[in-house]
Amino acid sequence: MILLDGFKVANERNLALKVKIDELVKQNKRKPSLSIILVGNNPASLSYVKGKGKACELVGIEHKLYTLDENIEEKDLVNLIQKLNKDENVDGILLQLPIPKHLNDNMLIDLISKDKDADGFHVINQGNLYQKKETIKPATPKGIMSLLETYNINVSGMNAVIIGRSNIVGFPVARLLMDAGATITVCHTKTKDLSFHTKQADLLVVSAGRPMVVTKEMVKPGAVVVDVGVNRVDGKLVGDVDFEGIKEIASYLTPVPKGVGPMTINALLENTFELYQKHIDNL
Ligand code: NAP
Repeated sequence: MILLDGFKVANERNLALKVKIDELVKQNKRKPSLSIILVGNNPASLSYVKGKGKACELVGIEHKLYTLDENIEEKDLVNLIQKLNKDENVDGILLQLPIPKHLNDNMLIDLISKDKDADGFHVINQGNLYQKKETIKPATPKGIMSLLETYNINVSGMNAVIIGRSNIVGFPVARLLMDAGATITVCHTKTKDLSFHTKQADLLVVSAGRPMVVTKEMVKPGAVVVDVGVNRVDGKLVGDVDFEGIKEIASYLTPVPKGVGPMTINALLENTFELYQKHIDNL
């Protein structure tokens, strides 16, 4: 089994991005900038935004973190997003999810300018993705595709089975894999016999958010397995698949942590840079 080392690949891609940014800064261009909005003090979200901020610093993207009270009124969040949308020095805006239930996450995501949508969640950007048009791609699916490409895994003709149909992972990764020539099956909680489908998979992408949702018996020998899930079990981070069992039969497998997570952050940085380039080209 070959480990799909997202940590290593993301570091290499981040370095390449840093070189590009340094070059533009040498030419007296301003640095790219990302505004991160965190509502409340969910410990997992706090640790994600810290990781994103640190990664920005490493590559030379300026970042500003807005930490807002969990009881913030929606109108105040609307005002902040509108202010950031208008700010010419802000290239990317990220609203860390999940946000408290009294706030309308879909409305707020779509309020972020589609031209500053660093996460690729805006309805127009997702619409463009589904129509195969050039667009900002959602960070996790984009990161997964970069990881597969780096290991020269050609998905064309593969049976790809995705567990999960969320707007941020399962559904868009299905679209990208289909565009790359894979034949797609998307499974979810209403799927009758999960293991029937997973056993057909040459490529299995698991994004359920449930530990041990896929065990060794459910995987075809030689399959490529991408584990997106992040779960805390007995104080330890684990994915959605039985890593120890599956590593004996998979051809490629992502670890958790240090698999898809760092690739997601790298994709976020690359998205921010892409938005920045469009902004400075239009100045
Ligand atoms: P989500 O919105 O909760 O979606 C989970 C999906 O999995 C749903 O479509 C659900 O089906 C399906 N599902 C759940 N349990 C299942 C089961 N037992 N059998 C079959 N399908 C099942 O979650 P998400 O936002 O996609 O995230 C999923 C996981 O990935 C979480 O652990 C999250 O923390 C992690 N994540 C990691 C990264 C990273 O960078 N590593 C990025 C994003 C998310 P229904 O639609 O029928 O409910």
